[in-house]
Parts: sequence; structure tokens; C-alpha cells
Amino acid sequence: MSQPTPEHRSDRVVGRFAPSPTGPLHLGSLVAAVGSYLMARRSGGIWLLRIEDLDVPRIVPGIADDMLRTLETLGFEWDGPVLYQNSRVETYRAVLQMLLEKGLAYPCGCSRAEVARIASAPHGDDGLVYPGICRDGLAEGKEERAFRVKVYDDLIRFHDGVMGYFSQEVSSSCGDFIIQRADGPFAYHLAVVVDDAECGVTQVVRGSDLLSSTPRQIYLQRLLGCPQPDYYHLPLVVNPDGTKLSKRDNAVSLAAGRDLSREGGSLIEAALGFLGMPVPADLCGASARELLRWGTDAISPERIPSESAPIQLPPTA
Ligand code: GLU
Repeated sequence: MSQPTPEHRSDRVVGRFAPSPTGPLHLGSLVAAVGSYLMARRSGGIWLLRIEDLDVPRIVPGIADDMLRTLETLGFEWDGPVLYQNSRVETYRAVLQMLLEKGLAYPCGCSRAEVARIASAPHGDDGLVYPGICRDGLAEGKEERAFRVKVYDDLIRFHDGVMGYFSQEVSSSCGDFIIQRADGPFAYHLAVVVDDAECGVTQVVRGSDLLSSTPRQIYLQRLLGCPQPDYYHLPLVVNPDGTKLSKRDNAVSLAAGRDLSREGGSLIEAALGFLGMPVPADLCGASARELLRWGTDAISPERIPSESAPIQLPPTA
């Protein structure tokens, strides 16, 4: 793997926010943006922005630009150019090639339905543990569809700065997992590990829906000789009854018709409160930018709650 750019080769924290442009920025992604921004900036660190646009069929045209304009309007300032994963496909291909040459990855000809029929336990990315059918060569009559990485018995244990210790045996919970999908795109796990390493990311702050994906990412980091960043998984924003938020109903973007010059402060205030930083009375009504500046000193991982919760949106004026 290539080395991080000189700008990032220091003791400075390098954080990032990596939204997928599959819908307008929503309350959950706003919390991830605020958390990752403040955790990087509190020690004078760098904050990178990456658009995870590999899953072409799910991408909504124009949404990536809307995300950038929304973040800018809310007062976020990122370092360097925005990285688009779509521009990085050749790098992912080279990493896949290297894994294939080392015998650490292999082509797989199994369809999802086939795996579902044979898989022993309902786990893994798509709910299935791959039973290793093509591990020692494409099974008779099969054609290459996807590529999988070989997972050896591996118990991954790591400390998360919000959620505490987390461990998972990747072999029994996912098995050999997909790094390039049958329909073409490189898988999220491969891209995220390669990009974080190349950009010198030292701190990953994101929603806790990705906590159980982290062992697979650490597994790949070890295989590729990449450093392991510090992890902070933030609680999820849920509906008052505990159910998952619908992205569409909770959009906070310009494209969704939000007047951010009026509502921006309230949204940032809500995200700060959610992350354990209730805004003092003298800052009520402050702009989004001012609140982010205040949050840079106020944020503390010890105060971030670990439980998913509804968000308290202040009433709009
Ligand atoms: N692109 C992912 C999302 O929007 C986040 C990936 C990450 O932070 O590692 O949920």
C-alpha cells in the first residue's frame, strides 16, 4: 500500500466523514458528521470528506453535491479535496489482484440463493455465512461472479472509544466475505480499508450500525498491513418507539427543502445534545458555525451515550 501524503504523516489526528450518496443527508448522518468533525478538530486534527459512491445502482444523482453544499452551509470545513471512491477503482483492482496472487482471495461462482440454501447459520453481511464452496477453486460448472477474501479462524477484538470492547470471530460470523460483488462494484469493506489507509486516517467516528462490520475491516487491515485506526461508534438516532428512522422523513439537506440559514443552528444543537453536549443557555439561537466551534472544546468521548435514542429537535422559530 502506498504511504499517506506528507501532510498527514504526523502525530495529528486524521478523521473523516464518508457518506454514501444514496439519499439526502439525514439526522443520523448529521450526527456522524458532527461527531467525526469535533473529534478530529478538538486536538487540531484533520477532517477529510469522502463520498462513497461505489454502489452505482443505489446512488441518487445530484445527492453528493447536495451533501457537500449542506455541510458547507452548516459551517463544516474539510481539509483537501473531496475523495470520490468512484475515482479509485483501479487502486481497489490492484489490491484485489495482489490478494489473488498471494492466494488470499478467490473467485466465487455461487449465487446468493445457492449460498442461502447451504449456509449453516444466519449471519454475515447479507445474513449468511459463506460455506466455502469455491474456496479451493471454482466448483464444477460454475462461472466467476464475485471475489471473496479467505478468512482463517480469527477472533478480532478491539476497543471502541464509545461502545467499549467488541469481539467477533469473523470466520464463524461471516466466513469468506465478498470484496468484489457479482454485479461489479468493489465491496464497501475493501474500499473503506484501502482509502482510510492511503489517506492516513487515524480515527474512524461513525454510526454504530457499522460496529459489527468493523472486525471484517480490521481483518483486511491486518491482511494488507494497514494500521488500525481508533474507532468511535456513535449511538444511532431512532424513532421515539425505538424503530429505525426512515432516511427520507429525516432529511436535513438543502435538497429536502430545509432552510438551513434558519434551521441550521437548531439542527447542530440537536446533534450536540444527542452526543452528550447540551448547549448552554447563552448559546441558544447561535449559528451552526458558532455551535460547531463551541463543540470542538466541549466534545468528550466519555460523555457520548452508547444507547440508541430519538433526537431532541429544538422547536423551530
Ligand atoms: N458510507 C457509510 C454510510 O454512509 C459510512 C462508512 C464509514 O464511515 O465507514 O453509512
